[in-house]
Amino acid sequence: MTMNSFMPVRLFTGKGCIREHENEFTRYGNKALIVTGKHSAKECGALDDVTEVLERNGITFELFDEITQNPLLTDCMRAGAAASASGCTLVIGIGGGSPLDAAKCISVFAANPGLTREELYSLHWPNRPLPVIAVGTTAGTGSEVTKVSVITVPEGRKKSFHHEQIFPAAAFGDPSYTESLPAGFTVSTGIDALAHAVESYFSRNANEISQCYSVRSVRLLLPALRLLAVKCSSPSGISAESGRPLLSWEDREALYHGSIYGGLAINITGTCLPHTMGYLMTEQHGIPHGFACAVFLPAFLRINRDAVPEIYESFFEAVGITPEEFGSIIRTLLAGIKPQVSEEEIQREHSRWINNSSILKGWGTITPEMCDDILRSLAS
Ligand code: NAP
Ligand code: FE
Repeated sequence: MTMNSFMPVRLFTGKGCIREHENEFTRYGNKALIVTGKHSAKECGALDDVTEVLERNGITFELFDEITQNPLLTDCMRAGAAASASGCTLVIGIGGGSPLDAAKCISVFAANPGLTREELYSLHWPNRPLPVIAVGTTAGTGSEVTKVSVITVPEGRKKSFHHEQIFPAAAFGDPSYTESLPAGFTVSTGIDALAHAVESYFSRNANEISQCYSVRSVRLLLPALRLLAVKCSSPSGISAESGRPLLSWEDREALYHGSIYGGLAINITGTCLPHTMGYLMTEQHGIPHGFACAVFLPAFLRINRDAVPEIYESFFEAVGITPEEFGSIIRTLLAGIKPQVSEEEIQREHSRWINNSSILKGWGTITPEMCDDILRSLAS
C-alpha cells in the first residue's frame, strides 16, 4: 500500500475562524464574486461574516445567490461570465456542497470566457481558474478539501469533473454555521460524509493515508449519527425536532470534522458504487444527495463482506462498531427513504453501470445485472 496523496488547501476550522484568519482573504486580489444558495448563507451568518471581512480589507464584491441544490451548469456559465465581465479576481463559495461545487466550476468559466461545456469536461482550459475560497455550511460533502465539482448538465444528469486546479485555495469550516441546518439535512449530509468514508475505505484505490482518514471520519461521525438515529426512531420522528437544538456543539464539531476527513479520503480514492447509483436517485426521484447515496451502502457492504472479508473485518475492528449495529444505524437514518424504481427505469438506466469506472473501483465483480438487482431490492 502506498501513501500517495496531494491536498494543497489552506484549511481553517473552529468557531470564528473567518475573523480569526481574515488576512487569508487578502491574498487573491481585490474583487470577489460570492456564490451562495438562496437562503442559508445569510441565515447561518456566514455571508455576514465574509462580507464584514471583505469590507474591512477593501475587497469589493458581487453576490450570485442563485445556486440551487445539485447546481446547474447553465447557472455556473452565467455566473462565470458575469465574474469575468466585472473583473473578479476571486470566487468565494458559501454553502453546502452545491454552492462550493458551483464556485469551483464558476472559477473555471470566469477565467476562460466563452469556454464550452465540452471544453470544461475535457479539462482543456487555456487559463488557470480563479482562486476559490470555500466556506462550508454543511457537515457533509467535504468539498472544501477536494478537487471535484459535481454539476447537473442540461439533460438532468449529475456529472463531475476532477482537476487539481479546482482545489480551493483556502477553506473555512466553522461548525457553528451548521446549527441552522434543518434536521433532515443534518441527517442527509451526515450520512453522505459516512458514505464517503466507507466507499473510500473499500476502494481498490485506498491507501495507508486514505484509510486513516476513513477510519477517523467514521469514528467522529458515529456518536452524532447514533444520537440522530435515536431521534429518528422516536415515535414522533425527527421532524418533531425542528426548531430545537438538535445536537450539542461537540457533536456538530465532530460531524464537521468527520465530513472533512471523509473529503480527504475521497480526494485520494474517489467514490464507489453508492455515489454512482445515488446520482440516479437524485436525478429521477429527487432524493437529497446523502440519502440518495446511503441507500446503496447496505448492498455495498454486503458485496465487500463476501469479496474481501479480511478488509471488511479490519474496517469494523478499526471503527469500533459491529456490522449489525452499523447496519441498524444506517437503516434507521434512512427510514422513509424507499425509492420505487420501476422495471422500465431499470432497463433504461442499465447501460450506466457498464464499465463504469467508479463501480469497477470496488472489490469483487460487480456486474451491471447486479446493479439492476440492487435497484429492484430498494423497494423491499
Ligand atoms: P446543498 O445542496 O449544498 O444544500 C442542501 C440544502 O441545505 C439547501 O436547501 C441549502 O440551502 C441548505 N443549507 C445548507 N447549509 C445550511 C445551513 N447552514 N443552514 C440551513 N440550511 C442550509 O447540500 P450538500 O449535501 O452539502 O451538497 C450536496 C451537493 O454536493 C450535491 O450536488 C453533491 O453531488 C455534491 N457533492 C460534492 C462532493 C465533492 O467532493 N465536491 C462530494 C459529495 C457531494 P440554500 O440553497 O439556501 O443554500
Ligand atoms: Fe457525497
